Amino acid sequence: MTAATVPDLPDEPTGRPAAVFTLLSEYASALDNVRAGGRTVGFVPTMGALHAGHQALVARAASECDVVAVSIFVNPLQFGDPDDLERYPRYPDADVMAAGDAGATFVLMPEVAEMYPAFPAPVPTAVTVSGLADRWEGAARPGHFSGVATVVAKLFAITGRCRAYFGEKDYQQLAVVRRMANDLSFPVEVVGCPTVRDDDGLALSSRNVRLSPDERRAAAVIPQALAAGARAITEGEYRPSMVEALMSQVIAEEPAVELDYAVVVDGNDLTPAIALRPDRPLRLLLAARVGGVRLIDNLDPAAGSNGIPAPQRSVSYAATPINPTQPVMVHRSRPVPAPAADQKKEK
Ligand code: AMP
Repeated sequence: MTAATVPDLPDEPTGRPAAVFTLLSEYASALDNVRAGGRTVGFVPTMGALHAGHQALVARAASECDVVAVSIFVNPLQFGDPDDLERYPRYPDADVMAAGDAGATFVLMPEVAEMYPAFPAPVPTAVTVSGLADRWEGAARPGHFSGVATVVAKLFAITGRCRAYFGEKDYQQLAVVRRMANDLSFPVEVVGCPTVRDDDGLALSSRNVRLSPDERRAAAVIPQALAAGARAITEGEYRPSMVEALMSQVIAEEPAVELDYAVVVDGNDLTPAIALRPDRPLRLLLAARVGGVRLIDNLDPAAGSNGIPAPQRSVSYAATPINPTQPVMVHRSRPVPAPAADQKKEK
């Protein structure tokens, strides 16, 4: 489809995209036409396998912009493990429908060869965001954020002036993208959107489909650990090491889940929090492996339960103090009737 043949855009949402592009040049000129007509553009970059979390970004974009473009591209540059790339879920037809349902006007689905013509030869130009991108996920997955920053920079360049919507679910990614857009002066306003969760609190993720039913049940301990950490801070804990120990303890109760990291960080620059002062923005970041699937999640301790249900049983935690001269804080979840000894396993 050429720019000249881009259909007239409907006045009302139709539930299906007006056009699906595979060529970058055609997508770019369609959006140029939109802006030339005085309309604003919202952009939602994704890797597909769309779920309600992605759709919430599209719906938010549709509520704030005249035209919404959704890109669906599994970006090989951000996968260190070829097996992970190979097994990443792909449902292109269902994705076009899901994007349209949520309010997408255009969908961009480029082939790898369209994005990176020389691939699998290394792409010579890459974007790196030093510092911010080196910690946590950056340390666990070397090269990951360079791959993310490179593809997002390319998508921003092609999409042009817009508001771009990203999920807080990938909190470090959101911070890296914000920094990159700012440092490289893209005409893009980056908008962070709240994490959408399942009923048991697990953050929706395209990777969740790879969990077995038992692993899926076990994964609910991830938001529970974050909620326990947030509660401790709300109740007055001021030592990050205590909050981190508490989150680790909650994860350790579920043998099917292997913790990678559970940390309290500054909410802006993601450096380790030194003391938990109420006037500083904080984030709890957590990464864990469930079976063969690596999951990440995070929580703003100042923002309440965030859709994570209260724990189903009363558990008391006593983290080991780092300084034995300081009092030990014992955190108790809200009292509920004592459960049967192994109720948690039966959930
Ligand atoms: P992905 O397809 O995983 O690359 O994600 C595309 C966008 O959707 C990113 O901005 C993610 O942060 C966002 N996203 C993924 N899962 C969720 C969720 N559960 N809630 C809100 N946004 C999400």
